[in-house]
Amino acid sequence: MNPKEKIYNQATFDEEHLACPHCGWDGTGAEAYVAGFYGITKYKEVLCPKCNEYLGNLSRERSFGDDRLDTQIGPR
Ligand SMILES: [Zn+2]
Repeated sequence: MNPKEKIYNQATFDEEHLACPHCGWDGTGAEAYVAGFYGITKYKEVLCPKCNEYLGNLSRERSFGDDRLDTQIGPR
């Protein structure tokens, strides 16, 4: 894996501090743009909301608040 690629945890992502090296955007994970690729990859891409610069990955691994995903996967 590319060491420059940052993996964010979904449970804490909204509070993560992010900075874009391309346009200088500065904010939190909640303000960043997340491209969802559900069902295709293990990670979602985190992009700068201003210039779409790639900032890292957001892990889809189960954590707090993912209970609703469980009910979608298992009908029982
Ligand atoms: Zn940017």
